[in-house]
Amino acid sequence: MAVSNQYAEIKKLLDKFITPSESWTPVEKALFTPEMFFTNYKKNQELLLPAIKHSFKHHYENNVLFKRLCEVDNVTVDNIKTLDDVKKIPLLPDSFFKDYPEGKGFLTWLDNIYTGSTPMPNFRTEAPDHDEVIEQFNQKGVSIMFTSGTSGRFSFIPRNTGSWDRLRYNAIRSIVELMDYDPNDSVVLLIPDPRQTNLTIAGLFGIAYDLYKPENIHVALEDTKITTQFLRMQRADTIGLKEKIKAKAMAKLSPIVQKKSDLRMIALFEKFEKEGKRANIAGPPFWLNRVMERMIKEDRKVKLPDSQVLTGGGWKAEEDKRAPEEAFREKVEDILGIPQNRYHDVYAMSECSSVFLSCEGHYKHVPPTIIPLVLDEELKPIGYNKFGRFAFIDPIPDSYPGFIITGDKVKLFEKCPVCNHEGPVLDIEVARLPGVEGRGCAAVMAELMESEE
Ligand SMILES: [Zn+2]
Repeated sequence: MAVSNQYAEIKKLLDKFITPSESWTPVEKALFTPEMFFTNYKKNQELLLPAIKHSFKHHYENNVLFKRLCEVDNVTVDNIKTLDDVKKIPLLPDSFFKDYPEGKGFLTWLDNIYTGSTPMPNFRTEAPDHDEVIEQFNQKGVSIMFTSGTSGRFSFIPRNTGSWDRLRYNAIRSIVELMDYDPNDSVVLLIPDPRQTNLTIAGLFGIAYDLYKPENIHVALEDTKITTQFLRMQRADTIGLKEKIKAKAMAKLSPIVQKKSDLRMIALFEKFEKEGKRANIAGPPFWLNRVMERMIKEDRKVKLPDSQVLTGGGWKAEEDKRAPEEAFREKVEDILGIPQNRYHDVYAMSECSSVFLSCEGHYKHVPPTIIPLVLDEELKPIGYNKFGRFAFIDPIPDSYPGFIITGDKVKLFEKCPVCNHEGPVLDIEVARLPGVEGRGCAAVMAELMESEE
């Protein structure tokens, strides 16, 4: 595709998300003004300070819980004047989004973390189950994304339509700038149908429907609605025998279904090779690994030199067992014939409106719409080049405060050691801090895939 044509296509795609400038708050201004995220990074960041100030004021004034936290830390709106001041903003631990009571208290909890008045639906009972909560809020225009830890508890992140659209725009910008984007490419999504689930990873990969033509998108597992209940049922430790029997009966992801799906994916790869088509293969690493293992077993290899791989959702919970990214990239190159500089990984969290997508050199680029922080054990910022706990100031959501401390261990560099895109980068490997519960969508899905016997 001609380059000028491609720019026109990208512009059209992004324009769809841009709201009329008369209605912009400083948050929309910071998000929609830059023509490129990773060029003129410093200039883009000048727009970020007013956005953070606006967002902080909004949550301070409309979120009772956050305001209380600010009072404890003695921080008011007047204290946040410069980019350096943003480090004073009180941060919420990500575990906070998991600390909800079961049953009746759940809605009160949700009402507390929601900034402004919660668009509370009418529930059939006083203690609706999580699926009903998600379903009913969806109808009110609030999408509740969830992700799960190994303990079986879910994080609930309430996002109104505006916050979700801004997240999508933000992620799309990183994709079109850091990857080789062509709207005519084919896509293979190694995930359940993203239109049918609220699992964060599926929702994020569902952005493919914004970027590519629906007829060119192939989903590995269709017609599988992953609900919180379904996920919970897969966890032997959290359920009783009765539920376990039920879970077995409804376990659609049996080894037979997996195998059938994997063979369908391999046939697609072979078709792309034969027709000389470009494809973007996206999904959690364990899933792609399983497909590649089958290819090795059946002695089938393909050469897709113009295609790309995008992994995400984290690696499997057991860190010691995981294949380091580098070894995985080599395997992708060997089995699928996709060069390593066309392999990308994305670090993303339900709680965060930015995705950290790796460039051709595998460093994860921080978009200019967020302030990344690395904290020491006392939760004090330590700057660049040192390992610490990842935290961020995310002004994009208005339905919950996006000022969050994660349990992930990262290192931040002021600039990418490999490519020319501007702005800071996260080191290639992101790990869970010791003692912090393993979590992530990929871990949950990996469990789903484990054979029943
Ligand atoms: Zn780079």
